[in-house]
Amino acid sequence: MVINIKKMVERFERYVRIDTQSSESSETYPSTLKQLDLSRLLVEELKKMGAEEVELTEHGYVFATIPATTPAEVPVIGFIAHVDTSPDVSGKNVNPYIHANYQGGDLVLKDDPTQVIKADENPALENCIGHDIITSGGTTLLGADNKAGVAEIMTAAEYLLAHPEIPHGKIRIAFTVDEEVGTGTQHFDVKQFGATYAYTIDGETAGEMEDETFCADTVTIKLKGINIHPGYAKNKMLNSIKLASAFIDFLPKDRLSPETTEKREGYIHPHSMQGNEEESIIKFLIRDFTEEGLIEKEDFLKDILAVFAKKYPKMQSEFILDKSYRNMKYIIDQHPQVTEYALEAIERSGLEAKKNLIRGGTDGARLSYMGIPTPNIFTGGHNFHSNKEWISIQDMGKAVETIINLAIIWTEKK
Ligand SMILES: [Zn+2]
Repeated sequence: MVINIKKMVERFERYVRIDTQSSESSETYPSTLKQLDLSRLLVEELKKMGAEEVELTEHGYVFATIPATTPAEVPVIGFIAHVDTSPDVSGKNVNPYIHANYQGGDLVLKDDPTQVIKADENPALENCIGHDIITSGGTTLLGADNKAGVAEIMTAAEYLLAHPEIPHGKIRIAFTVDEEVGTGTQHFDVKQFGATYAYTIDGETAGEMEDETFCADTVTIKLKGINIHPGYAKNKMLNSIKLASAFIDFLPKDRLSPETTEKREGYIHPHSMQGNEEESIIKFLIRDFTEEGLIEKEDFLKDILAVFAKKYPKMQSEFILDKSYRNMKYIIDQHPQVTEYALEAIERSGLEAKKNLIRGGTDGARLSYMGIPTPNIFTGGHNFHSNKEWISIQDMGKAVETIINLAIIWTEKK
């Protein structure tokens, strides 16, 4: 398989130069209209390369089809990436630089030499000796998250469209908006997309596939005290602000927090608090990889609340539980071929395939629960949401091969 690497890189550079930063504070959908600048370009390019059913939906999703080249009945497979970049770091006037034939050591970023990608902080660089590495100039993010995924899917699409002799089933492509602000699937019409299984191309290290996300809930605890004019409050006032701070102080300090956990460990994370003497509201993010673990943590909060209720009989309280999302593994494991084929596709592209887990949620997790099992595949990018983002061109090529291999494998094994 000979991928047109030069064209892939040109494509990637073209996409990262378009500012598509999404916004958390927006009321519109998509959250920023500039995301559509890239979406519209993708529609044009898809049409030019001969894709079918190319459309920009009213909510800003790009959908397209690579028609089947075999009459055999093969499930429709989808490939998904997002056009927006993180609100954390500017994506305006991105200058991509290629550090050709990397020979080890630190990478100094050219527009701001105080920005250095350190070799000892980036162990993955060691696997990229001899590779060509793309970074930003250091004053912006690069936008490999997720424009690498977009460029890789586009390159694979062009390859498949140019090689109708390769037998594959119908393939659907989606480029979504607002993934970085957590609403990438809000208006995603699963029926209109029409894929039975899909892959987001939005991971990091070459060779990795992710089929696990957190299970997530939010808990809101309202603590009601008694408010009296402070001049006449003796033995009467029950200040809810003090109740709330005592409640937070009750949480373990050496475990169960984002700052003290890693890998498979979950946490209870107070992320917002507001209040006055009368009432205080604390909001918690609850995370774990299993539902049982989630329930355990929620029960732990309930137990603390029970202790408080006993200690302060005049306090009134409310415990509100909101379900957020679940580990996609519960769904994906019901369709083991989805991950099996992905691992095989990665191996066929010459990499060691590795399963990983995501300490967060993904659009793929939401899609999995909307009916399309959707694990996540590497792009080759690193240091997402940072001006020290970097990506190896050779690894990007492997991602393109993996996408093409997946189309082939699903057809072979139908
Ligand atoms: Zn992403």
